[in-house]
Amino acid sequence: MSVKYKRILLKLSGEALMGNDPFGINRDTIMEIVGQVKEIADMGVQVGVVVGGGNIFRGVSAQAGSMDRATADYMGMMATVMNALALKDAFESLGQPARVQSALSMQQIAETYARPKAIQYLEEGKVVIFAAGTGNPFFTTDTAAALRGAEMNCDIMLKATNVDGVYTADPKKDPAATRYQTITFDEAIIKNLKVMDATAFALCRERKLNIVVFGIAKEGALKRVVTGEDEGTLVHI
Ligand code: UDP
Repeated sequence: MSVKYKRILLKLSGEALMGNDPFGINRDTIMEIVGQVKEIADMGVQVGVVVGGGNIFRGVSAQAGSMDRATADYMGMMATVMNALALKDAFESLGQPARVQSALSMQQIAETYARPKAIQYLEEGKVVIFAAGTGNPFFTTDTAAALRGAEMNCDIMLKATNVDGVYTADPKKDPAATRYQTITFDEAIIKNLKVMDATAFALCRERKLNIVVFGIAKEGALKRVVTGEDEGTLVHI
């Protein structure tokens, strides 16, 4: 089966790792996701992953209370590093080589982000997990995904969510809502559809990095996306 995208940037939210648990990392869920990624890596797709931290800590959340926002955001970035280490461990347990590169230096546990090295790993077929977001407070991991996706010259950004695409309305509230197969960046703006946060969306648009929004909980969804089947929503220039 031929692949449509040779190099992808997969954005996994922290919540994607929780499964049905209220917080943290669910082992079965992470193994399921990693299995899907290995399947496409085995097909020759080069995979970069940006993982969120919302399953552990979010700088803007109620958990942070009245904390200084920047401090809370650094805690959020550290949460993404925990998820990245769990992902690396899960990949390696399946025999898939993986590396973690962190935007914040923590040399005892992860390499510090270095673009040429990351590209080299991708070319060698290693999954590269980008941790600690952009390394800056006041940003999100969606923006980190757009940034790394652009820097790695990825063919596509895949945003894994708990809904299987972009809908005309919230499908949980409106049973008549339908999924867009494709939509342009401009249409998404006009229709006020939330694809990613505004900074991430603007960066993808400016760099002409198309996005597929899809639901990773659906079996085989990731493979269907990279082989160009009708799965999720393609947001394009
Ligand atoms: N964060 C940050 N800068 C970044 C990326 C993330 O400060 O470049 C912090 C921020 O507090 C955020 C938290 O890390 O709330 C976790 O990331 P995010 O909310 O994007 O995770 P997700 O929703 O994808 O699980």
